[in-house]
Amino acid sequence: MGRIIAIANQKGGVGKTTTAINLAASLAEKGKKVLAIDMDPQGNMTSGLGIEKETVNNTVYDLIIGNANLDEVIQIEAIENLDVLPTNIDLSAAEIELIDVPNKEYILKTHIDGVKDNYDYVIIDCPPSLSMLTINAMTTASSVLVPIQCEYYALEGLSQLIHTVELVRDRLNSELEIEGVVFTMFDARTNLSLQVVENVRENLDQNIYDTVIPRNIRLAEAPSYGIPINQYDSSSTGANSYRKLAEEVISRSA
Ligand code: ADP
Ligand code: MG
Repeated sequence: MGRIIAIANQKGGVGKTTTAINLAASLAEKGKKVLAIDMDPQGNMTSGLGIEKETVNNTVYDLIIGNANLDEVIQIEAIENLDVLPTNIDLSAAEIELIDVPNKEYILKTHIDGVKDNYDYVIIDCPPSLSMLTINAMTTASSVLVPIQCEYYALEGLSQLIHTVELVRDRLNSELEIEGVVFTMFDARTNLSLQVVENVRENLDQNIYDTVIPRNIRLAEAPSYGIPINQYDSSSTGANSYRKLAEEVISRSA
């Protein structure tokens, strides 16, 4: 059965989308069947996987408000083994439009339940907020993977995020777990990165992945070409670190 992982952290710029794109692509490269769902109205996962977000016909917005069904939204094999539910700025209106809709927390889940068995992994990129869109991701997911940037305020907001996961687990999705924390943008040249990693490892009561994602310019460049790092620069440290993360994710689900 498909494992559904939401990539979440309400802080922006911590590496959620980079992790969502490249974890999904690395799992697909290993032969896993993957569905990538973009729940951030910015649509950076969509464009990073090579889909033109301005011109795409149907998006997650159309799915969520009931304009289109899943077959009409899904982009089959955008990349080998990787299907995508694309998103663009339209999705920013969903929150208001759904305000009176009953069970609005479960709209995404209702659509994904019917197809999740077709996939080994479903990877959901969340927006930088604890909004209805993130709640929809968390009711759909079996676990939450939290990217943490190696910087001074790394843990800021983390207790709020963990609290939100616990609330969702208590009230909406009893299956939900914290998959783990992954450090991103590690800079081996600075003591700060090292101190952050050591400090968090000592103080955080959650799974922490052994794989640490380095700061690697190739990871920042790849999205402008609409391809994941394993296609843009297959032998880069960024590509290899996301392959290692994918292996860890696979071994934890075994
Ligand atoms: P979020 O989705 O949490 O807002 P992003 O994944 O979009 O974060 O990353 C924020 C910025 O940092 C982007 O410009 C991205 O290209 C860059 N970035 C992310 N991870 C890395 C990394 N490991 N090395 C270099 N740049 C990175
Ligand atoms: Mg993002």
